[in-house]
Amino acid sequence: ALTTGIVGLPNVGKSTLFNAITQAGAESANYPFCTIDPNVGIVEVPDSRLEQLTNMFQPKKTIPTAFEFTDIAGIVEGASKGEGLGNKFLSHIREVDAISHVVRCFDSDDVTHVSGKIDPIHDIEVINLELILADLETAEKRIDKVAKLAKSKDKDAMQEHAVLEKIVEALKEEQPVRSLEWTEEELKIVKGFQLLTMKPVLYVANVSEDDLMEAEDNEHVSRVREFAAAEGAGVVVISGKIEEELAELEGEEKNEFLQDLGIEEPGLDQLIREAYSLLGLQTYFTAGEPEVRAWTIRKNTKAPQAAGVIHSDFEKGFIRAEVVGYEDLMQAGAMNSAKEAGKVRLEGKEYIVKDGDVVHFRFNV
Ligand code: GDP
Repeated sequence: ALTTGIVGLPNVGKSTLFNAITQAGAESANYPFCTIDPNVGIVEVPDSRLEQLTNMFQPKKTIPTAFEFTDIAGIVEGASKGEGLGNKFLSHIREVDAISHVVRCFDSDDVTHVSGKIDPIHDIEVINLELILADLETAEKRIDKVAKLAKSKDKDAMQEHAVLEKIVEALKEEQPVRSLEWTEEELKIVKGFQLLTMKPVLYVANVSEDDLMEAEDNEHVSRVREFAAAEGAGVVVISGKIEEELAELEGEEKNEFLQDLGIEEPGLDQLIREAYSLLGLQTYFTAGEPEVRAWTIRKNTKAPQAAGVIHSDFEKGFIRAEVVGYEDLMQAGAMNSAKEAGKVRLEGKEYIVKDGDVVHFRFNV
């Protein structure tokens, strides 16, 4: 499964956030395919459509789709110099598909900051620099290899060489590779290098519990937003402390606490949704009396592969999919009415499943 890694300097609130994630955690019995690892937290993907479908179908069970966060330990500074734990930090980042980068935007006399003051941009740059240096090493090694071939006018090598030169130039300017623009052809080459600064990033601004409601007035948060915008990265504002408390509550108690805080939903829910879409993931549903359930697919997944997420037999024996869009189904008010209105389509194996599709697969066993 795709996973997003939680990174950040010491004392920024990573563990607090990760605790909230595991507390809020999904019932793992429903997700046998998820990783069992103390550093992996499995969360349910919040989706209001699932509630609506539950109201409509009155199923025995409702099962949200799930998603993994990985807690990335290790020492950050000096990581690119390959020192012990630092090296481990980089190899863990290499394994994740996206990065949630926690930065400290809360002042607290009780909690010391590693560099003595609160400066989220500096914090971001410390980590980014390690990733940039590691990528620079990768790119320079590769450039040495293709240089000879490029000289001998090998066409592919020449193109790769040009791409690498652009990468090296950017990295030397301390720019992450994800901020560069590429043609589709170039992009394929770039992806092949598996660079760390190519991974999509979400900045998680951790504010103090007192600042949560006026987070937009928080000067640290504004600076993070500005920085992220320039890089094309997203920002989510949370308060780690509050998320930890929220994760322990359920139902009415949780709603009351949210109301007291003046927020509609836990910051964690927003973080999950943003991280999910950052990975290019989307959701389709199966709905019936026994069960209403959400399933995760990558964008542009065809019907048989989408069926394969449920069971490999569904993919192998795929015949057709009966599909109705979520909005169409809601408008019709019930599955039968949607059918009568001609909103339920029969789709074949080339059909690309859309976000929100409610699907019934027909397959051979
Ligand atoms: P990590 O080193 O990045 O994993 O940071 P921790 O999660 O251990 O947090 C470091 C310290 O900051 C702990 O004492 C936390 O209680 C405190 N902390 C984390 N989040 C918040 C927050 O939102 N507000 C305040 N006041 N303290 C926080």
